Amino acid sequence: MSVAGLCEICGSESVEDACDRCGRLVCLDHFDPSTGLCTKCLAEFGKSKEEDRERPDGVDEYQF
Ligand SMILES: [Zn+2]
Ligand SMILES: [Zn+2]
Repeated sequence: MSVAGLCEICGSESVEDACDRCGRLVCLDHFDPSTGLCTKCLAEFGKSKEEDRERPDGVDEYQF
């Protein structure tokens, strides 16, 4: 916990880390520890990746 500030995506005070790519301070909800990226960068990366690969039309995040 060496970072101080607000999540630059949702404004939460519980900032977890800074994004490795854009440097945004983000909370745990908006930080992906496995990639070190914020969800915004993740969405950008994930998008082109997912669209390149197979896209089974939201099967993964469909049920709630
Ligand atoms: Zn957040
Ligand atoms: Zn980022």
